[in-house]
Amino acid sequence: MSTQTEPKLVTQIDFARAGQITPQMKEVAEREHRDPEYIRERVADGRIAIPANIVHIKKGMRAFGVGEGLSTKVNVNLGISGDKADAAEEWKKVKIAEDFGADAIMDLSNSGKTRQFRQQLIDETPLMVGTVPMYDAIGYMEKPLVKLTKDDLFEVVRAHAEDGVDFMTIHCGINKSVTKIFKETGRLMNIVSRGGSLLFGWMEVTGNENPFYEFYDELLEICHEYDVTISLGDSCRPGCLYDSNDATETAEMIELGKLCKRAWAAGVQVMVEGPGHMALDEIAANMKLQKRLCHNAPFYVLGPLVTDIGVGYDHITAAIGGAISASSGADFLCYVTPAEHLCLPNAQDVLDGLMATKIAAHAADIAKKVPHARDLDDKMGQARRKLDWDAMWKCALDPVTGKKRYEESPAATEGTCTMCGKMCAVRTVNKVFEGTTIDLGMED
Ligand code: SF4
Repeated sequence: MSTQTEPKLVTQIDFARAGQITPQMKEVAEREHRDPEYIRERVADGRIAIPANIVHIKKGMRAFGVGEGLSTKVNVNLGISGDKADAAEEWKKVKIAEDFGADAIMDLSNSGKTRQFRQQLIDETPLMVGTVPMYDAIGYMEKPLVKLTKDDLFEVVRAHAEDGVDFMTIHCGINKSVTKIFKETGRLMNIVSRGGSLLFGWMEVTGNENPFYEFYDELLEICHEYDVTISLGDSCRPGCLYDSNDATETAEMIELGKLCKRAWAAGVQVMVEGPGHMALDEIAANMKLQKRLCHNAPFYVLGPLVTDIGVGYDHITAAIGGAISASSGADFLCYVTPAEHLCLPNAQDVLDGLMATKIAAHAADIAKKVPHARDLDDKMGQARRKLDWDAMWKCALDPVTGKKRYEESPAATEGTCTMCGKMCAVRTVNKVFEGTTIDLGMED
């Protein structure tokens, strides 16, 4: 009789490797029109992540799959800042995220006591919840950045894991070797990642190695205990077109690829974060390079923003880049709002940013031939041919805004809209095929 105890299966990747299909894998398979075995195989080798903390599962979260062959997921960022701490406004944003089809909410609160908001969010939302523990460390430990110790930082990570956070952005890849390349080669915008800049500052002042890199195995143990998916932060993502695909970004990506393998070996699910700002013609190559260097780990990108001068309209610059990135391999898009680079977004900014990103993700899913991705588009075509406005609202990504605009401008000719009125092309051609009178030019 064997005296060896079987390793405890905790994470989705543990179960997948043991050949077991979890309820979460089944749920993802059903929503994505895939066979459960298709999901299990890809969770086992890391091509799909199902960020679902065991604490959040017990609170009734929905399971979402991120990765190969699945629909592109969309994240909404929110959370209070030191300059604007209005929790009621943040709850409005949560409601918008849930009502308008976001898959994830990242709570980026970075001031004061953030735990209450985070715990309530996890209690109430069925969407994936992500955080960046580094943002929270100063407030949580009530210490200045440079006084924080490795144990302090890991205590914050543990608190987020215990609360039920499904995925955490942790900037493990910015180590001394990457910062050496950064300082040697230089950049126009230096480091624009908030977490990356905090760690860079901490490393430079203390002279220590990045603790999330140096003690990565310890970090993996915490993540394994709760099935937290590590979202490997890209501290050196380009903050302007000039810096994209440079030595610093690539050096960090190589490190992230190595860290992916170590996470999977420890039974921890992983995603990798990406740019940033990038010229349109560089995006597809960047996506392919990331997939190659990071062994096909799911790629979670911000845009990329395809120009630096769209200030006030960066939900559009990011959506253009998002459609290209997602159709070239990115699996998860972080939304960008019109307030990007300017201020904390308000509720309307959140809706505008979410819809722009949803459109980018959906356009990419059609191009990627994600199963059934085009069904609603085809239904919309049928509804428009019939001038069936109620059916159109049912197909629309944002039925509320569409219906409101239509009703604000009543058409004189039944079935049409005020764009062409009686000269409605659809109406005219329908009349031809129905054999009814084409009444144009026959007004009384
Ligand atoms: S009136 Fe013009 S824009 Fe409006 S439904 Fe008809 S064809 Fe389309």
